[in-house]
Amino acid sequence: MNYRHAFHAANFADCMKHALAHALVAALGRKATPFRVLDTHAGIGLYDLQSEEARRTGEWRDGIGLLEAIQDGPLLPWLTLVRSFPPGTYPGSPALIRAMLRPGDHLSLCELHPEDAATLRAAFKGDPQVSVHRRDAYEAITALTPFPERRGLVLFDPPFEVEDEFARLSAAIARLAQRFRPAVQAAWYPIKHRTPVRAFTDAIAAAGLRDVIGCELWLREPTDPRRLNGCGFLVVNPPYGFAETARSLLAALQARFDDHGSGGGWAVTEIVPE
Ligand code: SAM
Repeated sequence: MNYRHAFHAANFADCMKHALAHALVAALGRKATPFRVLDTHAGIGLYDLQSEEARRTGEWRDGIGLLEAIQDGPLLPWLTLVRSFPPGTYPGSPALIRAMLRPGDHLSLCELHPEDAATLRAAFKGDPQVSVHRRDAYEAITALTPFPERRGLVLFDPPFEVEDEFARLSAAIARLAQRFRPAVQAAWYPIKHRTPVRAFTDAIAAAGLRDVIGCELWLREPTDPRRLNGCGFLVVNPPYGFAETARSLLAALQARFDDHGSGGGWAVTEIVPE
């Protein structure tokens, strides 16, 4: 396991993922009954943007760094939460989602890297609403679902270090839909080139799932497969109104991240109808 999220925290891909995940969790919170979130690839929770790792890549400057001046618009609810954390830090998915739980809600976190799992465990030590598991994400979805609350979100955010990650991800999403049909599922994926993305969405469509959308943001036409040209966020069972919210969030992000004339864009598309 070579991937360490501390090098990439708060980059454009994190901003896209977290703005959309924020909207999903906010939608779950609109009903009074408790919900649970399973964050299968959790990382360490909160990131220090002055750390050696963050300084080495400087990726956050082209991510959250470009959103600092925003004071209104669709990104503001997520940004307001981000700004409630200590200056110079950035909440990854565990810290962000934890801040959105109501007293009866729960967050389950899985992280396989030994050091990152230890950091995560220390961050949530003694928190009765958060459980931390050092276990494999794909094994955990069988062990930890369906949720006792019967509703909630499973968020997949693998590092795409292994060749077959797209195939493992589509198989896991299909398996989970069979075990726990009402779950909202969300999965982040890289757009380096369109071909593997098409194979992924084709596999999802062929697996018999219903009600799936894809949200995508790209900085430039994905023709050079060595670069992270964009990213996607696939959602199964999107809450009512989520596709519209996603459109406004992606448009606002693209307006800030646009490199003028580089061929960037965004899209929210139906992968499988309801
Ligand atoms: N979701 C985090 C966030 O938004 O703040 C970032 C997660 S990062 C992209 C992916 C994480 O998955 C890494 O910390 C990595 O150590 C962990 N990981 C890799 N393979 C895993 C597996 N099979 N099961 C659980 N965690 C894994």
